[in-house]
Amino acid sequence: MRVTVVGLGPGAGRDLTGRAREALEQAELIIGYTAYIELIREEFSHKEMRSTGMRKEVDRCRAAVEEAVAGKDVAMVCSGDSGIYGMAALVYEVAQEYPPIEIEVVPGITAACGGAAVLGAPLTHDFAVVSLSDLLTPWEKIERRLICAAQADFVLCLYNPASHSRPDHLRRACDILLAAGKAPDTVCGFVQNIGREGECAVLTTLAALRDTKVDMFTTVFIGSGQTRVLNGKMVTPRGYLQREN
Ligand code: SAH
Repeated sequence: MRVTVVGLGPGAGRDLTGRAREALEQAELIIGYTAYIELIREEFSHKEMRSTGMRKEVDRCRAAVEEAVAGKDVAMVCSGDSGIYGMAALVYEVAQEYPPIEIEVVPGITAACGGAAVLGAPLTHDFAVVSLSDLLTPWEKIERRLICAAQADFVLCLYNPASHSRPDHLRRACDILLAAGKAPDTVCGFVQNIGREGECAVLTTLAALRDTKVDMFTTVFIGSGQTRVLNGKMVTPRGYLQREN
């Protein structure tokens, strides 16, 4: 019948929106990556659930679409927002191969918003979001996007800053940004396990970030020329006060 692609927020629980909770309550079957199913297993223990492993994205979406074609009301869950490095586009793509079904996307709090709130207010002015994963994007393209974002003085929010197979991507990204003209003392921050147990935020500089090890459950923020530390927090003023002076 239909697939609802639901963003759970960074940690589910408190960050789950009312609309997402409603969509999960309505679904007959909830499908998702094992770690995300675990986040909601307790609250939705009365529901039929099916979890699949990492890198099984296409199989997962196919299973969801096939169940919907067979008449079920299916919720496919993603962390954060399902349309931001999530499954939403893939569900639309895979569904092309089947008889028409209804597809709905329910938005969620993405790691950029969740992490920004922990760090202070780093995204109050223009920002760019780049994933450092080169599993699906050639590294040269990622480099070009980093250079352009640095030249345009965007605040940068980096998803997928590292993994086991690419431990040095953050260092390489920092080197590219420094070479593109960003100051070594640019205010930076990163947040690990946003909204989950072990949430941890660190403020730093671009020069120090270069030598920092982060894991795949981390979102990284690199300030613009306007970003500063206020009250121990990372803040990018929009310019309201400056306009008054
Ligand atoms: N759809 C998700 C993003 C999936 S890509 C969203 O909208 O948030 C996976 C990347 O997102 C991770 O490598 C990390 O950079 C970031 N991320 C997702 N959840 C996170 C969390 N709870 N804490 C820190 N970073 C997170």
